[in-house]
Amino acid sequence: MDFFHYKNGKLFCEDKGIAEIAELIGTPFYIYSHATLTHHYRVFSDAFKDKAKIICYAAKANSNIAILRVLASLGAGADIVSGGELFRSLEAGIPASKIVYSGVGKTPTEIEYALQADILMFNVESLQELDAINTIAGSMGKVARVAMRVNPDVDPQTHPKISTGLKENKFGVDIKEAPAYYQRAQQLDNVEIVGISCHIGSQLTKIAPFVDALKRIKALMEKLEGWGIDIKYLDLGGGLGITYKDEEPPSPASYAREILSVIDSSKTTLIFEPGRVLVGNAGVLVTRVLYTKENHGKKFVVVDAGMNDLIRPSFYESYHKIQPVYVGTGKTVVADVVGPICETGDYLARQREIADVQQGDLLAVMSSGAYGFTMSSNYNSRGRAAEVLVAGKKAHLIRKREKYQDLIKLERIPKQIV
Ligand SMILES: *Cc1c(COP(=O)(O)O)cnc(C)c1O
Repeated sequence: MDFFHYKNGKLFCEDKGIAEIAELIGTPFYIYSHATLTHHYRVFSDAFKDKAKIICYAAKANSNIAILRVLASLGAGADIVSGGELFRSLEAGIPASKIVYSGVGKTPTEIEYALQADILMFNVESLQELDAINTIAGSMGKVARVAMRVNPDVDPQTHPKISTGLKENKFGVDIKEAPAYYQRAQQLDNVEIVGISCHIGSQLTKIAPFVDALKRIKALMEKLEGWGIDIKYLDLGGGLGITYKDEEPPSPASYAREILSVIDSSKTTLIFEPGRVLVGNAGVLVTRVLYTKENHGKKFVVVDAGMNDLIRPSFYESYHKIQPVYVGTGKTVVADVVGPICETGDYLARQREIADVQQGDLLAVMSSGAYGFTMSSNYNSRGRAAEVLVAGKKAHLIRKREKYQDLIKLERIPKQIV
């Protein structure tokens, strides 16, 4: 579901013509729909209506502070994986009491920052991290709330680069060792055990892996409760997939139904960390055709957005629909849509039937709201794209396009070498 649609042959984001924005600010840019974002948050939240829950939006999917602010205003918390994301979340007005901190490599500085901010809890991923948190909290005269991030060893049946819950993955602690970790945590003075967390992967299109993981977690939870450890928060991570092409991921409602059939939610507060499912279809990358060409009978459409803007196709072999901003003749061609970067892997689509676009035409790379801008870089010294948030008829620039000066602003030429 999204609010990108054609009106008189022109692509609109809500009530705003996309071409109009391109004329104003140039290309490429990301454009997000406020109504779509809001809709997806509400659908997710309503799926767990009347249940004690915190929806901790996974900030890494799209961490623009305007997006974070919209979600904060709807009641969202945040799942963060760095000090930078904590900073952004706080700047955007997400209450620290709704922030959970995941990630295998939290630095001492980041741990201290999170303790200072008094976040809800740390999802701890190793014994050494647990000790580090205990020591740092002790030195600050604080007690850190922790959950162990457990690796339930289930196959999420998704792309290998986004699987996290298999025993060979770096994430979490082995579910078999988890009880020992909890015992260790019980002995520490400066940590308080408050939960269990797990996140098994991203872009899951089947419900069974979620349920399998939950059943294993539930068994662990019962064991811990038998030892008198009170699990206040059960954090089930994110991972719900979206439709990029023809996937049929479970709806939040059916996901909720399955989860609630396994777990008695009256005793613990459920935490969810959805990222992609909230923002993925709320964003589009708009790019202009620079040139069209043919090599050995193979057609190429060269556009002004590259893998530095949207890395998903080359990194995950992901599929993004590519639609014309003006419908045109309706004629199509099969072509590779490629960017300007000096890498063969720099493409947005391969051997794709797309509208027969000409030099100067605009294309919309659909479903780019998650892991689009946040994974972008300055590779080839390209300034990162602008970002626009549309609500109804109004378009707001929420991030300026980077200029040449921005590329070098942190760099220095040492006097001694010149
Ligand atoms: C990436 C991530 C998420 C979000 O995953 P989505 O597939 O975008 O929902 C949630 N939790 C953790 C720990 C993550 O690393």
